Amino acid sequence: MSKPPRYISIGPYRYRIKLVRELGEPEELDGVTDTAGSKLLIREDLSPSRMRETVLHEILHAVWDVCNLSKAYEEKTIMSLSPILLDVLQRNEELVEWLTEGEQDDDQSF
Ligand SMILES: [Zn+2]
Repeated sequence: MSKPPRYISIGPYRYRIKLVRELGEPEELDGVTDTAGSKLLIREDLSPSRMRETVLHEILHAVWDVCNLSKAYEEKTIMSLSPILLDVLQRNEELVEWLTEGEQDDDQSF
């Protein structure tokens, strides 16, 4: 099974993705975002597909924090968006390549 990268950039922050044995009470969490410590804690025993969705879910929490959005609908919104966003990214390889091309093409077009 492939693992997520150990470090990712989210806005101005460098986040560590740390796989952990358990996240403890109060409920069985699959992942936790520690914005102050710039860490995404992910349960190491998740299936590959569940781990991918959980990492994206926690990334969206970090994005939410960087954008300083209202906490009111944070969990509900992220729980709705994360699975479908992952589905779009996974089933549209050409789109992902195009989206992640960067600025090189833009420079050549002028
Ligand atoms: Zn969440």
